[in-house]
Amino acid sequence: MLENLTDKLGSALRNLRGVGKLSEENMADALKEVRQALLSADVHFKVAREFVATVKEQCVGQEVLKSVTPGQQVIKIIHDELVKLLGEGATELEDKKPLRIMMVGLHGSGKTTSSGKLARYLAKKRDYRPALVACDVYRPAAIDQLETLAKNEDCVFYGDRDEKDVVKIGKQGLEAAKQAEANLIIFDTAGRLQIDENLIEEIKLLKAEVLPDEILLVADAALGQEAVNVAKHFHEAVGCTGIILTKLDGDARGGAALSMKSISNVPIKFMGTGEKSDEFDVFHPDRMASRILGMGDVVSLVEKAQETIDQDEAERMAEKMRKADFNLEDFLSQMQQVKKMGSLGSLVGMMPGMNGVEIGDEEEKKMARTEAIILSMTVQERRQPRLLRGSRLKRIANGSGVQVRDVNALLKQFTQMQKMMKMMRGGKGRKMMKAMKA
Ligand code: GDP
Repeated sequence: MLENLTDKLGSALRNLRGVGKLSEENMADALKEVRQALLSADVHFKVAREFVATVKEQCVGQEVLKSVTPGQQVIKIIHDELVKLLGEGATELEDKKPLRIMMVGLHGSGKTTSSGKLARYLAKKRDYRPALVACDVYRPAAIDQLETLAKNEDCVFYGDRDEKDVVKIGKQGLEAAKQAEANLIIFDTAGRLQIDENLIEEIKLLKAEVLPDEILLVADAALGQEAVNVAKHFHEAVGCTGIILTKLDGDARGGAALSMKSISNVPIKFMGTGEKSDEFDVFHPDRMASRILGMGDVVSLVEKAQETIDQDEAERMAEKMRKADFNLEDFLSQMQQVKKMGSLGSLVGMMPGMNGVEIGDEEEKKMARTEAIILSMTVQERRQPRLLRGSRLKRIANGSGVQVRDVNALLKQFTQMQKMMKMMRGGKGRKMMKAMKA
């Protein structure tokens, strides 16, 4: 499902390699791919448009985490938005016994099959004793089908092939279920090729008679947007409490699942993933989002990075300082890290011999200016400060709004720092720190 999206995104996101901050410009291609993939998966155009706008809003301006690629970070954002679109957490059925469920939907959507699957599922997971009531008065074959399912799943069955009044069947079905001590009563209603007045009227009458706790709409995912429209209409006409989305195993393009909640306003509660009675499960938006993207690992990787990034980066820097192979690029990254951490203290504390050294506001201000200067350098200049002479110095000073002497001062300070690190490496750290503080 949506393999398309995964592939296309893959190449668009590879182009983000190396960017430090996500921006509207560097995200443009990726966002275009997302939109196209959604549209070709038959997601409603309004949903696709809003989705892309939200993802953009979330991405733009984000600093890229150090231990993941920008692409991975974007995938995580897309994933989280997909989860929201699909309906956040799993939505449970009402927790009561007895529980009455009315199944509605178009002909061929999988209504009868899903009635059997749901009975089986709830008997197993929630310890219900199910009864299946056949309310399709037009197709005798549908009654036979439900009876067979009831037998296979060890359910109570009620049907009356001679009765044409749905309301009577409903009433008698309730009575039969009660007699048999069933505490889950599922009413399988008739379907049509399309929604019409008669069908809606019949469902309303049955609803008024059996007073269902849940009205579940069964929708065929293979119908894409059409399934979403059907759900919307059914909900407006009879008020549905949930959706069972069937045939998600086939080559359904996935769009139905994605637009369902936001267009129809009804949560997807279950999904059918095959013809067999156990190919059925509670609908989990997060699992579905990972499946759609086919990138579950990336999501957890980014989550982990978000939790531990500060620590990892600080340790890496401390290690570089220890080894004295620290360049201006590291210096910059360290300062940005420090800003995120809120104070210099924790970083300095990790350096050998520097416990207890205090750094105040003045130092922080100086760091902001230093950061501006380094940001005006090219990556090559940051890695090889030796290159910084003449016109380069002027360019950097202009770029960061300072004087050339300020840039020189920074370079001098940096050189001293490197020397200091080399000394610390030699074990003279404590002595030197004392000298500096004095
Ligand atoms: P109804 O007319 O709505 O009662 O639909 P049925 O329950 O008779 O199902 C119609 C067809 O869809 C049958 O051949 C079912 O086996 C098939 N079907 C139902 N659910 C699923 C599903 O989740 N996956 C697949 N692949 N087929 C399904």
